[in-house]
Amino acid sequence: MLLLLNKSSGSRETKAVLLENNQLIEVYLGEEEEESIAGSIYVGKIEKFIPALEAAFVKLANGENAFLRMKDIKVDYLDFFSIKKLQEGQKILVQVKKESVGNKGPQITTNIGIAGRYTVILPFSKSIGISRKILNEDDRGRLKTIGRALKEKYGIGIIIRTVAAEISEELIYKEVENLYDKWKEIAKNFKKSRKPKLLYKESDSDEFIIREFLRAEVTEIVTNDENHREIIRKFNQKVIVKVIHGDVFETFSIDEKLREVLKRRIQLPLGGEIVVDRTEAMTVIDVNSSHYIATESHEKLSEEINLEAAKEICRILRLRNIGGIVIVDFIDMKDEKNREQILKTVKTEILKDRNRVEIYGFTHLGLLEMARKRTSKSLDERFTHICPICDGRGRVLNPKVVIERLKREVEKKPPKAKEVIIKLHPEFKDFIDKEELKVFFKTEVHVHYTHIDPNTYEIAWKI
Ligand SMILES: [Zn+2]
Repeated sequence: MLLLLNKSSGSRETKAVLLENNQLIEVYLGEEEEESIAGSIYVGKIEKFIPALEAAFVKLANGENAFLRMKDIKVDYLDFFSIKKLQEGQKILVQVKKESVGNKGPQITTNIGIAGRYTVILPFSKSIGISRKILNEDDRGRLKTIGRALKEKYGIGIIIRTVAAEISEELIYKEVENLYDKWKEIAKNFKKSRKPKLLYKESDSDEFIIREFLRAEVTEIVTNDENHREIIRKFNQKVIVKVIHGDVFETFSIDEKLREVLKRRIQLPLGGEIVVDRTEAMTVIDVNSSHYIATESHEKLSEEINLEAAKEICRILRLRNIGGIVIVDFIDMKDEKNREQILKTVKTEILKDRNRVEIYGFTHLGLLEMARKRTSKSLDERFTHICPICDGRGRVLNPKVVIERLKREVEKKPPKAKEVIIKLHPEFKDFIDKEELKVFFKTEVHVHYTHIDPNTYEIAWKI
């Protein structure tokens, strides 16, 4: 597996792409404009205590006045920094719980949590929490034991997230080790700081992205940022790292590959095709075998196409970051077993997804029903907007209807007109017979196929 990291000039953010056999596996294109500060850790300055509210206002590095409840400050926290009593003007280590809304400032906490993919470590807590979404009792027991061992080792509280149930224990231990190192660095920097300052931001740090994407299967990394090499080596000593000049995504034609994924119709190797349609409420995916084969092998081929489609659909959901309800209409099969096989394939494939995917199984009409959670924008939302020509319906007027309208209008020709210039969309080339039009209009006709909207036409008379 090949990992590409790209930092375009003028951007602070690193984008990442995973490729396997030259095929896109996963993409991260950054968080875009609206930056979230939730989860960010700051050195703040206590501006004022408000006894009536049992709270304090804390000034952050971005100038905002954040709201901190006094009951939120635990003894463990004060002990850790050897603080006897908090005072106005004093520095304080805080994390943003909720971003500011309107003229209400951000809400902050001193109960710091540093989140990884599988766990969150809580340096000022002793509790062990297992995600409620993990239902299997064996998993819960196993993860609880891991949690206890980690609490013992580092003297911290820990939350085990849902995805942890599906990965190896080593990954959990390794992640907590990284998070703990991170925490030590934050605490060290806090002790050194004198003024309000941002100490940690989880979403856009290069380290966060590299850690998230540096899977065990990655054998080679190509980047255009020399600084990445050092970060990569923190996590992996052996992986090949190449630093190139210029745009990495351009070198590997990533834009082209993304365009492929965004297509409505996607061809499958065995001759099938999937058609992806998004409505306001859900995404509907249709699986077709593009050519009908009326033989015994038809059923077998359908089954194979369905399995191929199941894999591709999971890849598309992941890459396009499609959220919400997803309905898939597979090719009809007689054999009930094929449905089971499809379910099995989908269940395996969604493990590659960072986001939670619920599979509800087949409905009465034989449609596969699932739902995918997401927090960030879909690729469609990032790269496309509603078509201004068809207004998102995906359909335009039948050329015959447009030509009928055109004819009616040309019939009302001004008395002295000798020539008419008609502009139409190039699609009309096959529908227009110029000689016939000349006879019909009893005038000289010029047709240009330069009009951009297939629903309309342009007419100009020459006198
Ligand atoms: Zn359109």
